[in-house]
Amino acid sequence: MNNIRIILLFTLSLLSNVAFSQFELKIYTEKIENGYKILANNDEFCPVSIKLDLTLKNMTSLQGSKNIFVIPPRTKGYLIIVLKSKKRGKYSYSYKTRYNYGNHLKKEYDKNYSYYLPLPIDKKFKISQGYNGARTHKDINALDFSMSVGTNIYAIRGGTVIKVIENNNKGCPDEICARYNNKILIYHEDGTFASYLHLIQDGAIVKKGDVVEKGQLIGKSGNTGWSSGPHLHVEVYQQWMETSTSLKTKFKINDGQKSEILKENSKYKRNYR
Ligand SMILES: [Zn+2]
Repeated sequence: MNNIRIILLFTLSLLSNVAFSQFELKIYTEKIENGYKILANNDEFCPVSIKLDLTLKNMTSLQGSKNIFVIPPRTKGYLIIVLKSKKRGKYSYSYKTRYNYGNHLKKEYDKNYSYYLPLPIDKKFKISQGYNGARTHKDINALDFSMSVGTNIYAIRGGTVIKVIENNNKGCPDEICARYNNKILIYHEDGTFASYLHLIQDGAIVKKGDVVEKGQLIGKSGNTGWSSGPHLHVEVYQQWMETSTSLKTKFKINDGQKSEILKENSKYKRNYR
């Protein structure tokens, strides 16, 4: 009788708790003696943080009250949590999950890194909106490089491409159009991310999973999404479970000997490879 009940519980949990998501992340359960293991496969190319809200009946978590876990990139069978029954008799669990890119437990990053300008060599481009800009960068450390549609754009730092959206072909100067942002997201080794927004339709030259070097051609600029004119929006940020912080970073300018924080309405040139 007891065995049948356990098998039934196991079957039910298999049906109800194998979670697929918009991320290439799978959370699943395995039966162990007097309990369960909850595991994850992360097919994404960066760490993914997950929050597990558990409801336990006659069960305890061997990880205590810990409820945020970081699954390393490209990892299968990662053990998140072990649940054990407290005493004889019926036991069960259920959980809700939320998840996000990034390592929730990592707060430090390389503050001294000098980024490459995302620009074609030897041509000046203006910062049409700078860090904390009044139009759409309020409290956001992002940079808008004014450039005509179809301009080549380059990786500001080496890393791994974790996401590419390039199917959109419209934009407008209103937040409602943010859903049409074509973008490339790149994960850096210090745990930060860079986003490159508003690319032209089919304007990505890289794809998810590609490892890129600083200064590598990655796409072509455009005017898609929430955009009031042709430009490239670049943002370096840290991402945690529920929040993110955009970062001010230094960029190499001119011949690359000097790095500085870029200013709104100033023009900059990359004359280095
Ligand atoms: Zn912007």
